[in-house]
Amino acid sequence: MNRAILVVNAGSSSLKFALHVANADGTLTMQVDGQIADLHGTPSFEARDAGGSPMPARDLGDESPLEWLLGWLQEHGHLFDAVGHRVVHGGVHYAKALRVDAKVLGVLESLVPLAPLHQPHNLAPIRRLAALYPDLPQVVCFDTAFHRSNSDLVQRYALPDPLHQQGIRRYGFHGLSYAHIAAVLGDYDSRAATGKAIVLHLGNGASLCALEGGVSVAGSMGFSALDGIPMSTRCGALDPGVILHLISAHGMDAASLEKLLYRESGLLGISGVSGDMRALSASSEPRAAIAIEVFVYRTVREIGSLIAALGGLDAIVFTAGIGENAANVRARILDGLSWLGVRVDPAANARHGPRISTADSAIAAWVIPTDEEGVIARQTFALLGDAA
Ligand code: ADP
Repeated sequence: MNRAILVVNAGSSSLKFALHVANADGTLTMQVDGQIADLHGTPSFEARDAGGSPMPARDLGDESPLEWLLGWLQEHGHLFDAVGHRVVHGGVHYAKALRVDAKVLGVLESLVPLAPLHQPHNLAPIRRLAALYPDLPQVVCFDTAFHRSNSDLVQRYALPDPLHQQGIRRYGFHGLSYAHIAAVLGDYDSRAATGKAIVLHLGNGASLCALEGGVSVAGSMGFSALDGIPMSTRCGALDPGVILHLISAHGMDAASLEKLLYRESGLLGISGVSGDMRALSASSEPRAAIAIEVFVYRTVREIGSLIAALGGLDAIVFTAGIGENAANVRARILDGLSWLGVRVDPAANARHGPRISTADSAIAAWVIPTDEEGVIARQTFALLGDAA
């Protein structure tokens, strides 16, 4: 059989998957994808076939989500002979995808303290699959890897050097999404692909990345996935003095701060209604409007910072759930850049592009769908080759 790659993106609340099969010419075709959502509540399963049509939903029962998924794939004749995993943190050294062995797994486990809310969920299925199928090739693809090209200057916090040496530095995340955009940007805008671009990955997690010639040179996220712009439930950049105050004056400990900053802040915290942009856009609650306003304002400021880091700008790219679908949010962000000569084409923006700026806009603006699972499949295939 041609190589078939199962992509596993195991998060804290969902297990996303996709199955890609290699064609004779080395391209990959997606056969099925989907997710088991709401792992902490009532888990639900959804999947789409190669044509994008929904497949019948099924009850999960009490089985573990991974084992259930393996059973479902088998039942539907979806065999695979390699697995590619999304892993949030690759630390200082892992700058590209690599095959998992006991040594690699040990290094990745040592990085759990750097991403305690994500890394353990990413690693659990790798361990389980290794136990079930010791000979199955497994590849890890990192969210941090794409940003290893950032210079030492960009990675530095103004903290004592020993802390930098111990790994307290800016890493940046959403790298699989940015790798996809960098790979396809030339199909849309050849000038931006070789020049200066800012990509806005605006989903529940949200960040920005400055690309120069398709290479990451800076971004909004830092040591953790909390930094940068406000997100669905994460605060974004925060004066560290606030943390000190919450500890000393409010008696908060690490666990309660983690809950506050990761789960109760951002759009949800400001609005008090929802962390979901679609719900906020539809809400008549005044604080929902404030939440969107803060999101837009902070995003525009972050773009300004990255333009300075790049020393110019050729194009802006919107991607992920909000970036691909929320025309109102895109228009407001681009309005905040009108001083730069950015001109929005309202009709193109309403139909989600791909180009949403006018022909005479000084800077091009695009909507480009992301494909993190596709990147994982391609990185896995590139590493293992087609020898099944
Ligand atoms: P995740 O980071 O979990 O992968 P997504 O990339 O799917 O998230 O983005 C989720 C966000 O996208 C939510 O805030 C959601 O409301 C928003 N979104 C999705 N579709 C729309 C839409 N049609 N209009 C406005 N926002 C949308």
